[in-house]
Amino acid sequence: MQRHTQAIWNDDDSEGYEPLLSERNLETVEVDDTDLPDHLTRDSLKLPELSEPELARHYTRLSQMNYGIDSGPYPLGSCTMKYNPKFTEDIASLPSAAVHPDRDEASVQGTLQIYHELQDYLARIGGMDAVTLQPPAGAAGEFAGILIAQAYHEDNGEGEQRSEVIVPTSAHGTNFASAALAGYDVVELPEDDDGRVDLEALSAAAGDSTAALMLTNPNTLGLFERNIEEIATIVHDAGGLMYYDGANLNALLGRARPGDMGFDIMHYNVHKTFATPHGGGGPGAGPVGVSEQLESFLPNPQVRERDGEYELFEPERSIGKVHGAMGNWLVLLKAHAYISRLGGDGLRDASAKAVLNANYLASQIDLKIPFEPFHHEFVASAGDRDAADFAKRMLDYGVHPPTTKWPENVPEALMTEPTEAESKTSLDQLAEAFGAVAADEPSALEDAPKATSAKRIDQTSAAREPQLSWHQLESR
Ligand SMILES: *Cc1c(COP(=O)(O)O)cnc(C)c1O
Repeated sequence: MQRHTQAIWNDDDSEGYEPLLSERNLETVEVDDTDLPDHLTRDSLKLPELSEPELARHYTRLSQMNYGIDSGPYPLGSCTMKYNPKFTEDIASLPSAAVHPDRDEASVQGTLQIYHELQDYLARIGGMDAVTLQPPAGAAGEFAGILIAQAYHEDNGEGEQRSEVIVPTSAHGTNFASAALAGYDVVELPEDDDGRVDLEALSAAAGDSTAALMLTNPNTLGLFERNIEEIATIVHDAGGLMYYDGANLNALLGRARPGDMGFDIMHYNVHKTFATPHGGGGPGAGPVGVSEQLESFLPNPQVRERDGEYELFEPERSIGKVHGAMGNWLVLLKAHAYISRLGGDGLRDASAKAVLNANYLASQIDLKIPFEPFHHEFVASAGDRDAADFAKRMLDYGVHPPTTKWPENVPEALMTEPTEAESKTSLDQLAEAFGAVAADEPSALEDAPKATSAKRIDQTSAAREPQLSWHQLESR
């Protein structure tokens, strides 16, 4: 049942790849003499001379060599690759959505109203008292949140003393990085055999030097921290703050709120949970919510309403700006559209389906899943197979593979998150692909994928020495 969902362009000159435009036809375009100053002119411009149909076909062919959420299911754990409805794109494409960041407040009241409403929606979803929309990504939200924690401790005269941030071993890599970037010593917290926070280890780690604990709940194994109230008490009694990594809110929407669990600060990944795809390098947004005692430290500016007018203001003890303008406005606009369209009941329903889909898919596959009961995602083990080989081979069966080799407490981890967007048919297609790879001869996995337009790539040089433009390619 090998499925081919990608085009392979058999062009003799290009070994199956779609040639670059510059390789197709590069004729020098003569530039007329102009009145431009000398330093702005050049003798020739290297632009390919191609007709519109040739151009349109080139980009269509390229799109057919790719795999995206519009081609099939994409169960990349901890990424929430849900299908994002097109109506949000339509709204973000309205001419009136394009707002110059320097417009004066009186002329952008509608935009400020949307900011204000979204601050409120997210605060209500997370159980927080105030929200900033400025950070442009999850990691940037974490960093801003940790700076807020730092400013709070400094304000209490405990800035120097509180030099440590506690992070569970299984946490997302950005948690360690955000704490370290803010100058903190990172204290790693081991999990217990259950895959959850080890309370004894936490009690031993928390103390006078604790600035914060960073936690995800459900954690990266999809498990809910049953002792969350006790965890919060231990950290608060030690004088630390509770930071919630809310990158993946799909399990909680409309059901449980980090604020009610005792968290003081959290970030949201709007580009995961709320209608902007994660991955692909496009713009995102990582709003940060805080409890009342931290509100005055939020980044500048915030939006507030006074007598029906919306205005910008600088919070009293603000940590300053963390991004240009007011964040990635169009991403935020899409989140507002998505949340308004679904409403509270719709969000609650989405989380139910996300959890149901993960559990249904897990029930249909034959691999070991060491930690249960999970919520919106599960971590299966590829057993005696290499998880990366396993994942590459899944591409040959026409689906995108899960996240691999993380978290490390599951050997050869396949971290799988189907999201609420998939139908039973798509989930069955995923289960079939898991089954087919598990039944394959080990040799079939070694040089997979074979049925895709790009075969096995050297991941290290793809990450370290990317060729991002034809200029770079030509100068190789
Ligand atoms: C995705 C993710 C992040 C980081 O978000 P980015 O927008 O990629 O910076 C942080 N924590 C968790 C748990 C995540 O899944």
